[in-house]
Amino acid sequence: MTTTFVSPRLLMIGGGSVGRLAEVLGQFGLSKPLVVTDPWMVSSGTVEKALAPLRAAGIAAGVFSDTVPDPTDTVIEAGVAAMKGGDYDCLVGFGGGSPMDTAKAMAILGAAAPGAKMRDFKVPAQANRAALPVICIPTTAGTGSEATRFTVITDTERDEKMLIAGLGALPLAAVVDFELTFSVPPRTTADTGIDSLTHALEAFVSKRANDEADEYALRAMRLIAPNLRTVYREPSNAVARAAMMKGATLAGIAFSNSSVALVHGMSRPIGAHFHVPHGLSNAMLLPAVTEYSLNAALPRYAEAARAMGIATSAEGDQSAGAKLLQELRDLNRDLAVPTPGAFGIDPAKWDGLLTTMADQALASGSPANNPAVPDAAT
Ligand code: NAD
Repeated sequence: MTTTFVSPRLLMIGGGSVGRLAEVLGQFGLSKPLVVTDPWMVSSGTVEKALAPLRAAGIAAGVFSDTVPDPTDTVIEAGVAAMKGGDYDCLVGFGGGSPMDTAKAMAILGAAAPGAKMRDFKVPAQANRAALPVICIPTTAGTGSEATRFTVITDTERDEKMLIAGLGALPLAAVVDFELTFSVPPRTTADTGIDSLTHALEAFVSKRANDEADEYALRAMRLIAPNLRTVYREPSNAVARAAMMKGATLAGIAFSNSSVALVHGMSRPIGAHFHVPHGLSNAMLLPAVTEYSLNAALPRYAEAARAMGIATSAEGDQSAGAKLLQELRDLNRDLAVPTPGAFGIDPAKWDGLLTTMADQALASGSPANNPAVPDAAT
């Protein structure tokens, strides 16, 4: 069997590393970055943590800060226009998954023929070309986008969150600085943390799991599981923030080389139609989807429970699997994850969109990687 493994060419991981962006660019001979970020990063001064050291190194970066949560095709088109309007040699995605995915999508669309649309690249298409190299700097410990070959873009005409995959979305480099996450509020800390745990777990139980991705998934679970509640309760805990940040990146490498599965397949349509933050919709789904899938891959779920430190190696798979399920329910309780109703999802609108959401979930391909594969009726 042949395995193909991808990851960024350079990963710089550690506190304060955002101050070394000029050094990273220099290693690739890059000196004219367009920083892609969101409005809060500018208004709060956070993006200055990247821009000020660049200026000190004599690099004047452009800034595109019009990104939105769950980035849309129209924002990507505006970003491509900004990119082509300047003499840039790289893009720097600075922020959570939304700005990073925006930068990646700009690189992909910018390499396409005039008139191309983001939807031309949704899976099963391959998005392998990029107009400019992308360097990512995550500010949430969550999506792992800094290390994946994916970007997720909303088609505004169809209200569809599209999965776009290929080497064009794989960053050249990532600078992973946990100190950027001290300011993440508890709700977003919890949501993004569960997102990263879901990445690791889904990568590990996926039908596309492989030895290489497994190593990253297990390391990610060992880092994330004992630290997720801590960062939620103690935002300034540097040891826990560092573990979560590294775990999120490792989980990104894991699912980029394995896959995500049913949770993510179902989560994207919920995000598109009801604007539930990505990690939160994953959290709402994770216990139920795990219960549905458990017996189809019990030994894998049991091994995940052991990596997470909630079952011992002496314990049988049945007991470890049951503990995993209980832990995911407890985690949602401890992190105050609301039910869909408490979040404000209108049950009538939900019922009316069920068929559409099921079709969109299945079309993304992610559910087919799940240990138990549902059909639209399930
Ligand atoms: P996000 O980027 O949408 O950010 C959420 C909010 O948190 C924003 O208001 C942002 O300004 C704020 N924020 C970010 N960093 C902060 C900080 N350090 N301090 C204070 N506030 C901060 O959220 P996200 O969960 O990181 O990303 C979600 C997006 O990523 C979704 O569109 C999802 O589909 C996508 N995603 C992509 C991949 C991939 O592989 N490409 C994987 C998973 C998810």
